[in-house]
Amino acid sequence: MANHAPTFSLQRVIFLSVSLVLCVQVGWWINVQIRESGRLLEARVEALNANRAEAWQMDSLSVLAFLHARPDPSSRTGVVEGRIVTLPSLQQRREAIHRMYPHVVVVLTPTTPSDLPLLDGAAFLALRPEPLVELKNQRWHSVFRAASEGAFMVFAVLSGFVVLYRKLAEELDLKLRQRNFTSAVTHELKTPIASLRVWTETLFTRSLADEQRLRIRGLMEKDLDRLQELVGNLLDVARAESGSLVLHLAPLELKPWLQGICEAMDQRLGPGALGLQLEFATEPLWANADPKALGTVIENLLSNAYKYAAEPRQTTVTLDGDGDDVLIVVSDLGHGLSPKDLPRVFHRFFRVGDEMTRQVAGTGLGLFLVKEIVTRHGGDVRASSRGHGLGSAFTIRLPRLAEPSNESSNASAEGPADA
Ligand code: ADP
Repeated sequence: MANHAPTFSLQRVIFLSVSLVLCVQVGWWINVQIRESGRLLEARVEALNANRAEAWQMDSLSVLAFLHARPDPSSRTGVVEGRIVTLPSLQQRREAIHRMYPHVVVVLTPTTPSDLPLLDGAAFLALRPEPLVELKNQRWHSVFRAASEGAFMVFAVLSGFVVLYRKLAEELDLKLRQRNFTSAVTHELKTPIASLRVWTETLFTRSLADEQRLRIRGLMEKDLDRLQELVGNLLDVARAESGSLVLHLAPLELKPWLQGICEAMDQRLGPGALGLQLEFATEPLWANADPKALGTVIENLLSNAYKYAAEPRQTTVTLDGDGDDVLIVVSDLGHGLSPKDLPRVFHRFFRVGDEMTRQVAGTGLGLFLVKEIVTRHGGDVRASSRGHGLGSAFTIRLPRLAEPSNESSNASAEGPADA
């Protein structure tokens, strides 16, 4: 995993930079939209002001015409080119202005400092408040729309990036795991083969006492077991992936079967090395299971309890009923697992990237196979740990089978059970 750390961090840096650039761009776009809507508002207010100025001009022309024509300052009428000119009443002027400029109103007292006094000082020209309020509302509307469109854009593009990032991270992770797997398998094959070669040479080139021969035989058997386990796991994984892992399910009484598997494993790993403790419910518990395939599951879990714990080991296997299910728990007091690794341990080729566990031989296929087999039994398996150095537990949950009658269990015992 260490080899790929720079790739992951480079990926993260690129992702963060692109997200940052995107956020800045969208922020800038929102800012432009807000400024534009501000300018539009100003232009519209200017247009209303220009309207009011026109209204003032129109009214002032009629006042000027009257002032110019009036022969007597106390008279309200005058003559221009033979035409009698009368100064219209304020009401008439108000109506004329309103007709021509609906957004302008004539008020007797100014409402804002910008209200224009009429030429004869009779009143003031103000703008109606409604269009101004409407324009301000429109502006806030467009600001809100720009902000929500921007937020949606950021959300949509970032979600896309996150999906891509995750996909990419998964791909890289799988590639890395595959690479680790290849070197692990090479190592797992080379070591017992090299060891077998040395023992064979020793056996055939030296004269050895019976006791020594017996010891070498034991060591060779261990190497062969290791090879057999590896090849068996590889074959099972290949079968599971191609969908050709066939299970021969039949009613199985779990207690004697589990006891047999645990004791055989204890012998194989070195009597007492597991520090095995069996805690089985007294009642008989049955499940519809393939004893050989489910045996592989228990063997893998016990083998891990052995590999990932230092001496003196303490491994506990419990078997109990839980409502309609049966629970088998294999727990140890070994290295334990960190919370982030718990769901990943069942992934194909996954091995914890911790030097302490990496020094242990393995391919990252055991728990993948465990999960496959248990799932194909209609059950599930979960890993739990109280943390690093505090041991781990693997809980298998299988559907419980009612104890079969004598005839049917005899019939199933006679049937084939090989995978
Ligand atoms: P392998 O043991 O061949 O590496 P597994 O699929 O059995 O592969 O396990 C995957 C990884 O999960 C192991 O490499 C190890 O890091 C971790 N692991 C499995 N079982 C245990 C355990 N009992 N205690 C601590 N870590 C474990």
